[in-house]
Amino acid sequence: MAEVTVRVQFWGTRGSIPTPGPSTARYGGNTSSVELRSARGTLVIVDCGTGGRALGQKLMSAGANGLRGHILISHTHWDHIQGIPFFAPLFAAGNEWDIYGPKGLGQSLRETLAGQMQYTYFPVTLDQFAATVRYHDLVEGTFDIDDIKVSTRYLNHPALTLGYRLEADGVAVVYCCDHEAHARVLATGHGDIAGQDLRHAEFIHRADLLIHDAQYTAEDYPAKLGWGHSSVEYVVKVSQYAKVKRLALTHHDPLRDDDAIDRLLAGIRTTLKENASTLDVFAAAEGQIVELAPSAAKDLAHRVGEFRAETPIEPGLIERSVLLGIADTRMAATLSEAVRAEGIHVNFFLDAAEARKLIAKDRPSLAIVEHDPPRIDGMETCRAIREHENDREHRVPVVMLAAQEDQSTGATVGVTDWLIKPFSAAYARTKIRAWVLRTACRWMRATIPRDEERRLVALRALKILDTQPDDRFDRITRLASALFDVPIALVSLIDQKRQWFKSCYGLSMRETSRDAAFCAHVVYDREPMIVPDTFLDTRFADNPLVTNEPRIRFYAGCPLILDDGACIGSLCVIDTRPRSLEGSDLARLRDLADLAVQEIETISAVRELDP
Ligand SMILES: [Zn+2]
Ligand SMILES: [Zn+2]
Repeated sequence: MAEVTVRVQFWGTRGSIPTPGPSTARYGGNTSSVELRSARGTLVIVDCGTGGRALGQKLMSAGANGLRGHILISHTHWDHIQGIPFFAPLFAAGNEWDIYGPKGLGQSLRETLAGQMQYTYFPVTLDQFAATVRYHDLVEGTFDIDDIKVSTRYLNHPALTLGYRLEADGVAVVYCCDHEAHARVLATGHGDIAGQDLRHAEFIHRADLLIHDAQYTAEDYPAKLGWGHSSVEYVVKVSQYAKVKRLALTHHDPLRDDDAIDRLLAGIRTTLKENASTLDVFAAAEGQIVELAPSAAKDLAHRVGEFRAETPIEPGLIERSVLLGIADTRMAATLSEAVRAEGIHVNFFLDAAEARKLIAKDRPSLAIVEHDPPRIDGMETCRAIREHENDREHRVPVVMLAAQEDQSTGATVGVTDWLIKPFSAAYARTKIRAWVLRTACRWMRATIPRDEERRLVALRALKILDTQPDDRFDRITRLASALFDVPIALVSLIDQKRQWFKSCYGLSMRETSRDAAFCAHVVYDREPMIVPDTFLDTRFADNPLVTNEPRIRFYAGCPLILDDGACIGSLCVIDTRPRSLEGSDLARLRDLADLAVQEIETISAVRELDP
């Protein structure tokens, strides 16, 4: 057996409401909270329900000085955040915590968490945390927490909810609470994994440990439709399909006592044995520790790449609007109200021609189309929309509103997702939020400087573009990396359509598109630019250099301005974690930029002497 690298401990396993008492003593009565540690000791806590309180106490008793940790919140329903006001490490000065959660359209994560600590409900406010606490609003994507790679995925729940896939030391742990099967037939234990459930399977694919909401059984389910939770049968099915190794059933229903959980588990294990399945299933118990070792021959990175959010990337912020093509007037009213409640503009259409006209005028974040023939043919509308989209990358997501899913026709005409009738307004709102957030573009291209022509003439006259690496510049980037303790330092030159690196320390690429270039902003401003956390900056949050390799979280760049005044590029330092730069550091970065300019000027002077 390989060496244990990742350690997981359950601190809360109950769903919805704390359920202490003799009948829940074995599996536990506290609500959701899981602790995960990598071999290197990086501490991540997923959800902080009431179980988080005891975890906080343990951390404090182990010596709290300079405690560093990360809390990932799946969603802000009480049973997932109620432990935060009681989480002692947040109240101790000198500790540093990062709290992450799904980005809402209106409130920030911090505002929502502050809400449960208003004086009406709680005597202490969020501002009284003595630790340094940073809040991060997440959308779908991938980012790093030290040595842990985190991928996020929207789940199917009446609140905007993220599932987390954590990968470290060759081990993948996936946490999905709370989540309901997309296709309802799956929750009753029938049907095939397809559509959005297939994407869910991809997200949990080959997890060494999957921690999954399993609040109901197939038998309970018909009475709990749309409540946002899974049946055990669905979780087992999707886990088998996705070749999950170990499955921890959690978010136990408050009505399910220890004996009932035992019976449920025994039933599942019997069925699995009969089917000769290798899936290892257990019911998560409060206090339980699971130690994980990497399994051989597993290409995690490859799988992760496959389910990366399809971020439609388009420079510049887009106005949010939603197109509605709904014949049923009551349904149209419900949906338009749900959309407007998010502060999003609505446009209505009734036929494909109208839809195309509207899309051409102002690309919407989303189109919701009803399919109820012969009254309204949503499939035909979707086909017509797709026919006029020449750019596959920037397709408008089309959600089909129908009485049932028709996967095969849907796939042919290009349906992105389904909204199955009947649905509650809250459910529709969550779906709309998830889709609009997926398409909300937070990436701005730098403005072209006014002296662009002159600038390009000056740059090209240097004859430096596409030349071989040169130690004079590599020395500067090496120094910058060491000085600021960052993994990446660059001398970047902004050409007409690209940025090209004369020196790139810690980066294998030699150039990127100009649209993605942070340094192009520095060139436009002709001033140093510091971005402490790209996730929080609407100019960069969805930039491909942020959402993909090299996953820039921090950037600081100083302009390279030639003697004749032309600004040709930037010297920059980059980190994969958020940080700041003090005034004196900035002065040093400027000094290094000046050194780079000197070297550039020397080269061109020599060339003039000896052309
Ligand atoms: Zn819950
Ligand atoms: Zn919930």
